[in-house]
Amino acid sequence: MRRQFPGHGASRGNALGRARVRQPHALEVAEERIAPGQAAAEVARLHEAIDMVREELRDLRSRLHGALAHEVGEFLDLHALLLDDPELLQGLDGLIANELHGADFALRVQRDRLAAVFESMDDPYFRSRVEDIDHVIGRIHSALHRHDAQVTGVAGEILVSDSLAPSEVARLHARGVLGIVTAGGSMLSHTAILARSLHLPLVVGSPQALSLVNDGDVVMIDGATGLVIVDPDADDLRAHRERVREGKRERRQLHRLRREPSRTLDGVDIRLYANAETREDVAEAHALGAAGVGLYRTEFLFLQRNELPSEEEQFVAYRDLVLGMTGRTATIRTLDVGADKSDGSGLALPYEPNPALGVRGVRLALRRRDVFTTQLRAILRASGYGPIRILLPMVAQREEVLAARRLLRTVAARLRREGHAVAEGIPLGAMIEVPAAAIALPAMIDLLDFMSIGTNDLVQYLLAADRGNDALVDLHSPLHPAVVLLLHQVIGTARAHGKPVAVCGEMAGDAVFTPLLLALGLEEFSLHPGTLLEVRQAVRAQDLAGLRARLTELLRARDHAGIARWLARSTGEP
Ligand code: PEP
Ligand code: MG
Repeated sequence: MRRQFPGHGASRGNALGRARVRQPHALEVAEERIAPGQAAAEVARLHEAIDMVREELRDLRSRLHGALAHEVGEFLDLHALLLDDPELLQGLDGLIANELHGADFALRVQRDRLAAVFESMDDPYFRSRVEDIDHVIGRIHSALHRHDAQVTGVAGEILVSDSLAPSEVARLHARGVLGIVTAGGSMLSHTAILARSLHLPLVVGSPQALSLVNDGDVVMIDGATGLVIVDPDADDLRAHRERVREGKRERRQLHRLRREPSRTLDGVDIRLYANAETREDVAEAHALGAAGVGLYRTEFLFLQRNELPSEEEQFVAYRDLVLGMTGRTATIRTLDVGADKSDGSGLALPYEPNPALGVRGVRLALRRRDVFTTQLRAILRASGYGPIRILLPMVAQREEVLAARRLLRTVAARLRREGHAVAEGIPLGAMIEVPAAAIALPAMIDLLDFMSIGTNDLVQYLLAADRGNDALVDLHSPLHPAVVLLLHQVIGTARAHGKPVAVCGEMAGDAVFTPLLLALGLEEFSLHPGTLLEVRQAVRAQDLAGLRARLTELLRARDHAGIARWLARSTGEP
């Protein structure tokens, strides 16, 4: 029977395929009983998962070096001890063998029992150990389902899942999965950014998906509107075919702009740079006449793997990026793992209760000098092949820029002594994405050669609204007066100092916001090549002098609706 329900469109495109439903591995598992004859096999399955976790912890431990070995090692040792705790193991075996619970439910019961014991203790230290129990039990639980997760998603299927890690997106795409629907997530998550980069239709924030879709159902998704239809009828199928045709027509029309300048009606050239991570992105950016690469997120080289990429591997990736841009500048951002980009980075990141406010970006780089030095060596070696700029993520204070500059000088000098060709005067810039850096930009701008405003994070930190939390999509919006005022301030400071400034967050790639950014004085955008032509079209439709004459009106807008009205008037909407 036909059913339809909404989500948020996070990566455009229409997909029609068979559903593959991946139920969440949360511990809210329902009570399940097994037959007495299954108990021995269920105990064995559980112990196999425990062995897997033991092996994982050992492996993580062996890859820790220096201060981290002490700091994180202690934490891993504690988890290894918990894993061998007879109380935990016997309890689990008993729940399966005597009470005939499935392994998942046994984990849940045992977790609650142990948590109750710890939580009743007076000592706050012991009470806080519940977190460790959750961590260990969670690891066993996902090990129990690792096999299921590995087989999820094949060619011709649409994956329906509670959430998705960025590292899974590329794997699913390579397998020929046609589209993805997630119950949670947001369009600013790195998962969504990657899906857009791969042109893989994605609908997020669709909590009904897990209950309304069954394995094998035919599903139709619209990655622009977020609409999901199960068991589509003849009208739906016709509409789907029409949308696919319409999409092709629009793309053909936009394609005509690929050799046209990004010039406003009153003749001002706006530089459109590309956010590019893959070879395909780089080729597309080049073909569409991007001014250069404005953001190359190097962390994607570090994800989906267990070991760190070597200097040579990184060098080849950066060199090929530089060569691919044939003389146009490539802006390489140094490692920004952490927050939602920490899975399988080969870095064994310590557990942090608030990772988005934790050791990520330049903070991590400066603590892991070995990793940072290797990366800077690889980047500087690539500078011998064409123009590059280096961009530091998550900068909050001048000390970080100073420390990075010092290290950059030392690494460059060493490379030159070794006989490598390293360019002179490579521009060093900072992402402006921590409100402190935006507000106090005048206090550090002397250290920066250029700036790139990361609105995804800047909005998140400014409005205290998690960029990955679907419940906050209305709040996490660039249409908040605080965002507009701060962008105006940052762009104005950069221009007053004669330094280049771009916006490289997702906002820059959404043509809806183009008039607003132009009015604020922005002349450099960095966006995914997938939307470059749309933004070029929007730039070409605007009269810059006219927009800037309406700036005061924009800066006076008091709410989301006021800014949206200003935007609507800029595009001639009623
Ligand atoms: C941003 O925060 O806007 C940005 C471009 O960086 P990322 O999305 O990689 O955090
Ligand atoms: Mg960011």
